[in-house]
Amino acid sequence: MSVSDILETRSAFSFEVFPPKTDVGMEKLCGEGGVLDKLYTLNPDYISCTYGAGGTNVGKNLEVLKKIKADGKCIPVTHFTCIGNTKEGIKEQLQTYLDNGIDHMLALRGDLPFGWTGTGGDLHYATELVKFVRQEFGDKFTIAVAGSPEGHIACRSLEADIAFLKQKQDNGADYIMTQLCWDMDQFRYWLDAIRAAGVWLPVDVGIMPILDQAATINMALSRNGCVMPRELCEIISKNWIFPNPFEKEPFDANVEGKKASFKEAGIEYTIRQIDEYRACGINGIHLYALNKYDDVARIAKEAGLLDLI
Ligand code: FAD
Repeated sequence: MSVSDILETRSAFSFEVFPPKTDVGMEKLCGEGGVLDKLYTLNPDYISCTYGAGGTNVGKNLEVLKKIKADGKCIPVTHFTCIGNTKEGIKEQLQTYLDNGIDHMLALRGDLPFGWTGTGGDLHYATELVKFVRQEFGDKFTIAVAGSPEGHIACRSLEADIAFLKQKQDNGADYIMTQLCWDMDQFRYWLDAIRAAGVWLPVDVGIMPILDQAATINMALSRNGCVMPRELCEIISKNWIFPNPFEKEPFDANVEGKKASFKEAGIEYTIRQIDEYRACGINGIHLYALNKYDDVARIAKEAGLLDLI
């Protein structure tokens, strides 16, 4: 069964991991009894693995996905971007995934490296990538595409962004995976707006667990320009530990205590957010596992995600 078939029939639940840079990190994720083995015990429908724009980590990305495929516990999904890729290169890489039994992909333009004005490759947008994959590979891939409930940071308008999402559907995409969005009013507005625009694809919602102050601020502001609701800002303020969140040295004697209380409040916030998303009638929850198990497992369990299957 493909992920899009699952999303059409019931709510799905999945994780996202990233390819570690070091051998130690690879062992922690892919080794025996490692994070992947532990994540399988939660019975996710799929696990996706990110892809460095420009293909910088493509070897490790494939290694992680091959392990998920070989373990046979859930569907492996690769992220894939146009950045710096020629059409020939894209064909070769995608054929390699297929040869390894990986037939699900998230088709992305990719984040442009700082200073770049275009992809530096043959394809410029995810719309083109979806079309190209369908032309070259027919229905061999199940294709997910990104959706941005707040509008992509570089879009000229939310309406334009929604029109391009519709184009991804028309070009052959199977389902949508959303960008991080904490602003639930905006999410509901976007969901209504895409449906009104004729986008009927299932929506699998991306959730970043709130576990660490600097990572949360970084994720929201370094690239995506996400709105942080008052409740989330209060959690950050009440547990503030750094004069500058990116300074290594904290100024507060109770740093460890505040980190722990931040994480506790963040986990509770994440669970409430999942409740709100599920009440919107979305089709799946995709948890960014951040290559961790314990906190992510707690969120999945307490949010009731393990009972979806
Ligand atoms: P597109 O859909 O191509 O959109 C990019 C911009 O161009 C938007 O502003 C859009 O409005 C505009 N646009 C789109 N189509 C057209 C068109 N035909 N003509 C004119 N303008 C157009 N990045 C990575 O590098 N690696 C990853 O593994 C990764 N994983 C991700 C996972 C998820 C779930 C999400 C939501 C994002 C992920 N990203 C990843 C980030 C993503 O690559 C960036 O958000 C990127 O900047 C845009 O990708 P996209 O596929 O949304 O681009």
